[in-house]
Amino acid sequence: VRGLTFRGKARVAVESVADPRIESPGDAILQVELAGICGSDLHPYHERERGLDHGTVMGHEYVGRIVELGSGVAGLARGERVLGPFSTSCGSCFYCRRGLTARCVEGRLFGWVQDGAGLQGAQAEFLRVPLAGGTLVRVPQDLTDIEALLLGDVLATGYYGARRAGVEPGSTVAVVGCGPVGALAAAAAVHLGAARVLAIDPLPERRALAAAFGAEPLDPHAVPAADAVRAATDGRGADAVVEAAGGPAALALAVDLARPGGTVAAVAVHTEAQLAFSPAQAYDKNLTYRSGRCPARALIDELLPLVRRRRHDLSAVVSHRLPLADAARGYALFDRREDGCTKVALVP
Ligand SMILES: [Zn+2]
Ligand SMILES: [Zn+2]
Repeated sequence: VRGLTFRGKARVAVESVADPRIESPGDAILQVELAGICGSDLHPYHERERGLDHGTVMGHEYVGRIVELGSGVAGLARGERVLGPFSTSCGSCFYCRRGLTARCVEGRLFGWVQDGAGLQGAQAEFLRVPLAGGTLVRVPQDLTDIEALLLGDVLATGYYGARRAGVEPGSTVAVVGCGPVGALAAAAAVHLGAARVLAIDPLPERRALAAAFGAEPLDPHAVPAADAVRAATDGRGADAVVEAAGGPAALALAVDLARPGGTVAAVAVHTEAQLAFSPAQAYDKNLTYRSGRCPARALIDELLPLVRRRRHDLSAVVSHRLPLADAARGYALFDRREDGCTKVALVP
């Protein structure tokens, strides 16, 4: 079968890879119908995250059809269309029972094989899904394939950011970074009843995405974001800030944008050793700071009403739909943000 593999820094290639097969009774094999390229795929692509074995199939966003099931999988059947989150979860451990499926004691990320151990990714014709009964969800008939794809990662993560930032009816919200996660966080904030959503990104196509989802776009190169947010809030700052860009500068900005008593939710991946703000800053603002990987599996049911409402066309975050054979070009377009690329969906 064909898959997109990691070949070293900024090098990926579509090539023949081993057929995924049932390895344990809880496994399912999916025929992948659509696979996403995610901003977090660019970390190993650029070796900002190191250790990925050469030859690993990349990717963790997928929609597919079950073609084979292990003997121990309950509640799913061959032929069903399913979606799933970027990591596996058992559904029954301490963390899964509390809705923190991203910290499942048996959970593993798709598309990460290190020293020969780990899971192959979804940017391929077929995918093995361990713990299938706890991980996969049947795709409701009325969802498009792109809506189903977004549910497994970027939409769930954006929504998690808005929820963790404490967005409620009437809130003024700032979103730092309007890639797919940030733009969908803006859509989620609107859905949760925010009065104003100020969406900050230097790239015009990303601001346009957030604006299409009901946010007010801010270009930080035109007016400093802190000035614009203060001007919009009688000088106070935002009630809730979603940080969806990553890196210390974005986090420092997010803290700066929050009003006293406000909440910052960092849903971008952070790999720094230190926080970008001081205990004194947090104390002086009565700040609440939340962080961590989204428990996407636990949020899918809660997200269906947002998708079904179709107040905005959430699938607009996918700017490019390419055949799997063109996946390497998809990475290059997405990485360089060429051709207005905001997100790529691959069709095997
Ligand atoms: Zn992702
Ligand atoms: Zn678990």
